[in-house]
Amino acid sequence: MKPATKCIHSGYAPKNGEPRQLPICQSTTYKYDSSVEMGKLFDLEASGYFYTRLQNPTNDAVAAKIADLEGGVAAVLTSSGQAANFFAIFNICNAGDHVVCSSAIYGGTFNLFNVTLKKLGIDFTFVAPDCTEEELEAAFKDNTKAVFGETLSNPSLQVLDIEKFAKAAHSHGVPLIVDNTFPTPINLRPFEFGADIVTHSTTKYMDGHATQVGGCVVDSGNFDWTQNDKYPGLTTPDDSYHGITYVERFGKGAYITKCVVQLMRDLGSIPGPQNAFLLNLGLETLALRMERHCENALKVATYLKNSDLVSWVSYPGLEGDEQYEIAQKYMPKGTCGVVSFGVKGGREAATKFMDSLKLASIVTHVADAKTCVLHPASTTHRQLTEQQLLECGVKSDLIRLSVGIEDAEDIIADIEQALVEATK
Ligand SMILES: *Cc1c(COP(=O)(O)O)cnc(C)c1O
Repeated sequence: MKPATKCIHSGYAPKNGEPRQLPICQSTTYKYDSSVEMGKLFDLEASGYFYTRLQNPTNDAVAAKIADLEGGVAAVLTSSGQAANFFAIFNICNAGDHVVCSSAIYGGTFNLFNVTLKKLGIDFTFVAPDCTEEELEAAFKDNTKAVFGETLSNPSLQVLDIEKFAKAAHSHGVPLIVDNTFPTPINLRPFEFGADIVTHSTTKYMDGHATQVGGCVVDSGNFDWTQNDKYPGLTTPDDSYHGITYVERFGKGAYITKCVVQLMRDLGSIPGPQNAFLLNLGLETLALRMERHCENALKVATYLKNSDLVSWVSYPGLEGDEQYEIAQKYMPKGTCGVVSFGVKGGREAATKFMDSLKLASIVTHVADAKTCVLHPASTTHRQLTEQQLLECGVKSDLIRLSVGIEDAEDIIADIEQALVEATK
């Protein structure tokens, strides 16, 4: 099936007489005829549902759809994108381990890594996404267990050179984990370029209607965890399951199985089935919406580029943009609907511009059907210092405009009148 068809049909195939739409299994528990049968589930000797903290049929169908869209072997839904990135790292890193990470990442992820995971003893070295191979090489240590980056960073829109990062990761025997939230698998499938694990904040385009907060971790199944002794959690017995070894028992499903039966069991960041249902509704139109988001964003970026009231525009899909070439390589069909720019008059004019918008709303959100706008330096990134802002590519006058799927003419008319107000 092609991606647009997968959006609609993957993950759930009703049998004769069953509901056509994915049912919401709003149940914590599952009934069995004997305690022997249930015991086998607890020992992972048989597969089946027993408690929604570990698995739920609605959640699993949606995870399977996302896995199929990415071209992976397995996936797990999480209660947020933050939880997805935490699980993706924590599934293979322990206290004393180290991760090489692109510095162009979402502010929340930066705090998770640089503050909370550091407290847990996992250390990070941040490198610029456009660093040289030598600079990237120099960031690795003996205890490095993973490389992490965002395929198209939020909000700085830097395109990750996935092949460069994958090559470096693999030469050190570690996987490349990428957060593919902004392009979605409609515009970019990172496994095709060598990434091993993909994460998502499904809160964004995948949902697309601002109805649920969620995340997802997808495994390509391509990484060989047994090639070295860096991943004892996957390659040696788990005492909490009577000594099963994940790679032996679950093969290519080892990473996601461990994530579910160990991390979900212990940390419990599952989405409610109702949320998974809403996410699935969003996914059904993802291919259609991404096309429109990109078409509208290109029109808006072109308008901004030609406006005398705008000091700079960044949109990797815009010809002449410094990211254009690399974006064409990884996302030839389009990048996403997010455009960032600066209004003449700096920080103050940026605020005035935002307050003058009528159609676009000021929200802490992106990647929604409705056009929305945010000033990261005073909201999502306000915990960061000026230096940290610079390092993650967020100028203090940066306006992040998330172009929706309204008629482009209406969006541009709104921007035009707000620009005039802001620069009066
Ligand atoms: C929003 C976002 C996150 C965090 O996801 P939540 O669903 O808000 O927890 C992580 N990565 C990227 C790229 C994001 O845009």
